[in-house]
Amino acid sequence: MMNFDNSYAALPGAFHATVSPEKVRAPELLAWNEALARELGLDAFEGDTSKIARVFGGSEALAGSHPISMAYAGHQFGHFVPRLGDGRAALLGEVVTASGQRYDIQLKGSGRTPFSRAGDGKSWLGPVLREYILSEAMHRLGVPTTRALAAVATGETVVRESVLPGAVFTRVAASHLRVGTFQYFAARGDTASLKTLADYAIDRHYPEARDEPEPYIGLFRGVIERQAKLVAHWMSIGFIHGVMNTDNTAISGETIDYGPAAYMDEFRFDKVFSSIDQYGRYAYGNQPSIAQWNLARLADTLLSLDASKDALESVLAEFSDHYEAHFIALMAPKLGLFDPQSSDADLIVEWLEYLNEKAHDFTLSFRGLASRIDAVDEAQFGAFESKWRERVTNQGKTPAEVAELMNSVNPLFIPRNHRVEQAIDEAVHGDLTVFHAMNTVLAQPYTEQPEFADYAVAPLERERVSRTFCGT
Ligand code: AMP
Ligand code: MG
Repeated sequence: MMNFDNSYAALPGAFHATVSPEKVRAPELLAWNEALARELGLDAFEGDTSKIARVFGGSEALAGSHPISMAYAGHQFGHFVPRLGDGRAALLGEVVTASGQRYDIQLKGSGRTPFSRAGDGKSWLGPVLREYILSEAMHRLGVPTTRALAAVATGETVVRESVLPGAVFTRVAASHLRVGTFQYFAARGDTASLKTLADYAIDRHYPEARDEPEPYIGLFRGVIERQAKLVAHWMSIGFIHGVMNTDNTAISGETIDYGPAAYMDEFRFDKVFSSIDQYGRYAYGNQPSIAQWNLARLADTLLSLDASKDALESVLAEFSDHYEAHFIALMAPKLGLFDPQSSDADLIVEWLEYLNEKAHDFTLSFRGLASRIDAVDEAQFGAFESKWRERVTNQGKTPAEVAELMNSVNPLFIPRNHRVEQAIDEAVHGDLTVFHAMNTVLAQPYTEQPEFADYAVAPLERERVSRTFCGT
């Protein structure tokens, strides 16, 4: 049975605004993540589809919940906005699992809040299905991320560039604390609230920091380590977040806010998808340095809690080493290396430079390389191929073992952008076949699934998606 709590709502009024999700005309359940629901102890709903649609569409209160919208600030594309907050989201509260893990349950697209500014607080179907597919795929690829619990159509329309069907997304997160939450209080000079927030973050995510001589330095170190690992993960799977603003940087180290996010097809270091990213600030290759920049903004806020500047700077400087170590550890098995040596960093770079020069499909190139392990015909991957083969066959492993290692960590299936677009287009016309097929196939990204072979294929030139939209 579900154990529900409202620890964030219990924080002082400056942290949030009480809201009530809007009732919608005709809630209809489009997707329900049954496995996740069971993990969270939400199985009381099992089978009652119309109740699930009412609760997670916002029409009926979830028992025990105290819905709030969270206050936060943020640097958006480098420009500081002192008051953003949840303009279209309601945090219902937290589920505490049998093992003691606490998860936020949040509705996205459930109507206006005191933070909505000019927005309508709503969402159309596209971003709801997109976040559902992308975040669940991320989880299956072993990368820390918020999860998708439900997608509910509202039976209402929302007006964007055109009139579109409305929907509500239910997100599950380790928490929704962001770098921007710290910035909100720091910018207002509200040191007491900032301290409350830092203590709450330590209790919830970094309890080990409590025992350090300087707990806030311990908190900062924890966030640095998890963000370094997270971005290394993204880089290793060709993922581009698209809006790495400080309000989209989670203290927990999870991937959060799949707006114009995309898994790359053809590889380019300077690849950008987001239609609003005019200068390529959040290009694939910039992601590690942007993450570090965002963390420097977190350090700025901790200065007002008397964390020493020198200590913060030296922890911040460790980001690169953490990032490099994680990146090598993740990339090595992708190239068939069981026990990476320091010289293997060069091999990894050479491979990426080769993919970049040829603009080869990122995902399929790794699978293709594995299939070349004992090939004797003309190389498919240039001069790199023989150099690589010599290195990996020199490990005391059979070619089959090398290929097996590679195929166990290199996905065959990623959420291809053209397929995501297709899933959305067809869903707008009432057909969820592609949406459901994608969720099925992406649940086992490393496994050949002949009946879904089409979903592994890179887009044809005319199918390529070059731009993604925030499109709330
Ligand atoms: P995001 O693009 O999700 O990072 O959102 C940036 C900011 O814009 C946040 O404060 C959101 O709450 C707000 N926002 C985005 N879409 C809407 C909307 N449809 N209505 C109101 N606020 C929104
Ligand atoms: Mg956001």
